[in-house]
Amino acid sequence: GRVAAEAARGGALDVLHRVFGYDAFRGSQQEIIDHVVGGGDALVLMPTGGGKSLCYQIPALVRRGTGVVVSPLIALMQDQVDALRALGVRAGFLNSTQDLDERRLVEAEFLAGELDLLYLAPERLRVESTVRLLERGAISLFAIDEAHCVAQWGHDFRPDYLALSALHERWPDVPRVALTATATEATHAEIASRLKLQDARHFVASFDRPNIQYRIAPKNEPRRQLLQLLRSEHEGDAGIVYCLSRSSVEKTAEFLVKNGVRALPYHAGLDARVRQENQARFLREDGLVMVATIAFGMGIDKPDVRFVAHLDLPKSVEGYYQETGRAGRDGLPSTAWLAYGYQDVVQQRKMIDTSEGDAAHRRRLAEHVDAMLALCETVECRRVRLLDYFGQKSEPCGNCDTCLSPPASWDGTVPAQKLLSTVVRLKRERNQKFGVGQAVDILLGRKTAKVIQFDHDALSVFGIGADLTDAQWRSVARQLLSQGLLAVEGEYSTLVLTPESSEVLGGQRTVTLRKEPERVAKAGRSGSS
Ligand code: ADP
Ligand code: ZN
Repeated sequence: GRVAAEAARGGALDVLHRVFGYDAFRGSQQEIIDHVVGGGDALVLMPTGGGKSLCYQIPALVRRGTGVVVSPLIALMQDQVDALRALGVRAGFLNSTQDLDERRLVEAEFLAGELDLLYLAPERLRVESTVRLLERGAISLFAIDEAHCVAQWGHDFRPDYLALSALHERWPDVPRVALTATATEATHAEIASRLKLQDARHFVASFDRPNIQYRIAPKNEPRRQLLQLLRSEHEGDAGIVYCLSRSSVEKTAEFLVKNGVRALPYHAGLDARVRQENQARFLREDGLVMVATIAFGMGIDKPDVRFVAHLDLPKSVEGYYQETGRAGRDGLPSTAWLAYGYQDVVQQRKMIDTSEGDAAHRRRLAEHVDAMLALCETVECRRVRLLDYFGQKSEPCGNCDTCLSPPASWDGTVPAQKLLSTVVRLKRERNQKFGVGQAVDILLGRKTAKVIQFDHDALSVFGIGADLTDAQWRSVARQLLSQGLLAVEGEYSTLVLTPESSEVLGGQRTVTLRKEPERVAKAGRSGSS
């Protein structure tokens, strides 16, 4: 075809200019492309927005045959293919959304050598007829997008990806390039071994996104806090607000609309057409705020997303990094803001306890949450911690909340002992289960109906915590929970001690806590946190 012929003549840089209209390669694109054009396998780790697509699209145009791209993003294939076709690239896709006629047409194009790129859903490769089809055509390379989906250790495992190890056996001479924006050392190693990419060259880009300002705030009244953020810093900006549940998405979107923000909801429970329409509007129009569950965003390429806000704690640092990475792809200053509180920790721990899967699976989930909590509770630079999680060393950034207003840490041993002693005393109540609210009321010496009903005003710990506010006590409880010095169990989130709690109670262990910014600590009632 025209484009491919030109490509072969002019080489990679020429394709970059003529087909894609860009001046120069970014980062290590050139190196990766040269390596793959030369027939080498590659494992590409590059943050979202780094420019992974060109790393397989250009080699596919330069090499003879069709580049086969395996991608889990079925909903985006049509758009990706349309965008490529608009550039004159002969692209097609095969997935479950097509009818038989459409599929036949694409298959015929592939066999006739009329496709530069063929996008495939991973499950298609489990169908023998697809494999036979591929064997009858000429393949220039395999690109495995979102390659972390093959890692069981990771946060986005898809069983269909395991079958991709067979590509190497069937097509030993076809170069393979696996790409992901998610890569802890562990995920990274697992991708290489599961996809039999041990001999692949690794290209690891910096995961730093210097234009994103990371901020993590104690959750007080999350929707009000969010509104405050939007009004003070992001008036009229496009952004994404992530919530854990569908109902919270709905409520938050309504709240924002009521307060004059142009917001749209997005979650899997919405009608597919509404979902698509909202997504299309978000991409097309300026200054819309998408309130969504994490179902939204994978593969979304909107350069001017100015903020990503999380109203609930993400389940892992990888997830957090990927979601926040959707901000500021254009390189301009952007905000990643997360609010989290006591209830988030309780909720995540509960989800793990009740999750399906074996003990090893639950342990993995717990490790992910613990890493996320450590990022939230750190008194160090957020970026240093974040990059460290991805195995990259860096210096304090000057562009995160802890760098901009360093939080103090304080010796929380005595308050921790007070709170844990209260838990010990509550435990003695037969058949009664008390959560953090009751413990805080007791510590503050509040004679609530429930305190009086259970004679808790007669406990020796009653009123011993009047030196701290309600919000401060909840912060203490949250941090003890994060540090594993306190736990919750059962339907009512009853407070219970952990094996480590006794070391604190016995005075063998000190507790260092993060001091919350003043304005939050002063807020008397802590609302939904
Ligand atoms: P990723 O898949 O890594 O998230 P994409 O491949 O979608 O990133 O690229 C992100 C954006 O950057 C896209 O809009 C893409 O067109 C653009 N881009 C990629 N490489 C270059 C380049 N060399 N010059 C200019 N823009 C580029
Ligand atoms: Zn910093």
